[in-house]
Amino acid sequence: MPLFEADSLPGWSARRVAQFAPWHARGSVPARVVRADRDRWHVLAGAEPDPRPAVIRGRLRHEALGAEDLPTVGDWVALALPDPGAGDGPAVIESVLPRDSAFRRKAAGRETVAQVVAANVDTVFLVAGLDGDFNPRRLERYVTAIWESGAQPVIVLNKADLPDRGAVPALVAEVEAVAIGVPVVALSARAGDGLEALAPHLVAGRTVALVGSSGVGKSTLVNALLGEDRQATGAVREDDSRGRHTTSHRELVPMPGGAFLLDTPGMREFALWGEGQDGGDASGGLEATFADVEEIAAACRFGDCAHEAEPGCAVRAALASGALDPARHASWLKLRRELRAFAIRHDRRLQRAERARWKTVSKTVKEHMKQKYGR
Ligand code: GDP
Ligand code: ZN
Repeated sequence: MPLFEADSLPGWSARRVAQFAPWHARGSVPARVVRADRDRWHVLAGAEPDPRPAVIRGRLRHEALGAEDLPTVGDWVALALPDPGAGDGPAVIESVLPRDSAFRRKAAGRETVAQVVAANVDTVFLVAGLDGDFNPRRLERYVTAIWESGAQPVIVLNKADLPDRGAVPALVAEVEAVAIGVPVVALSARAGDGLEALAPHLVAGRTVALVGSSGVGKSTLVNALLGEDRQATGAVREDDSRGRHTTSHRELVPMPGGAFLLDTPGMREFALWGEGQDGGDASGGLEATFADVEEIAAACRFGDCAHEAEPGCAVRAALASGALDPARHASWLKLRRELRAFAIRHDRRLQRAERARWKTVSKTVKEHMKQKYGR
């Protein structure tokens, strides 16, 4: 069956073929979600050139533990095609294959309910503008969240036409010092200058997404990369309720060269959603982003050093000697606090531990007061 050649679907790999084997045995075909609406999906199935509408199997909805388990843009799914004889009913999504990466954000409301805005993104272009708003420190948070998702960050410094020509390498170096191990590329999307530096990240089958603050030039870059109007490239034809053809965006767009651009509204500005890919340890991304600080902290005398007043604290020593930049230290502390607050909200075990800690603390305080003041 041609669908099972790894190269017949861009991004479909030998590993996916193995994952898919049980579904193949049941007559399903592999497909990729190019758009997800509330209860309607568009999928690209096998070698079909155009996306087709799909619904999900009732069982998939009933067995979903939360919104996270439902198909989202970028997901690989097992699809049951309608019987050729049975008119053209929608295809049915039977199952979502395991995700390599997932961008989650808080669903609306106060509860920390995760919603997956994008799945199976390989590479994220974190875009910043070399203009008046340029702030390397702001990138740290994004880089951390991108590592957390399971994707690989690439920092794109856009508007490289604005600073003095000679100043750009120093700006690149400044960012490289903050984002250790992350490729940094300077270019001008508007002038079309330097785009070729992104080519190694746009190889066939790769799925890339763009994030960054508003105004940094993401749309300009998308248009430059697609080399044509996104509307035309990404159109999905669908019938509205009156049976007319309307067009709307698909959000997983094939690019010249065979890579896919994942461009869904929730993805462009995602908040820090500090959860590990397996829902477990949230600190992996933090360690990667702050490898330099973590390395210093590893030399503290106590393994659980809070880097406050402990003797033998290597972090405080590095601050005192100037080896650690106070601003970088402050960013590290801030992200640690946020990740910890997040972990506590999410983890019952940690919640219990935190409550127990407070009980002990208040008991100790009470005892102390009693000793001191006799009551
Ligand atoms: P988005 O909000 O991130 O999608 O940003 P846009 O693509 O809408 O761009 C915001 C503004 O920055 C627009 O006025 C663009 O023309 C401008 N812009 C985008 N790329 C460049 C660039 O490479 N150089 C300069 N000087 N301006 C740019
Ligand atoms: Zn310490």
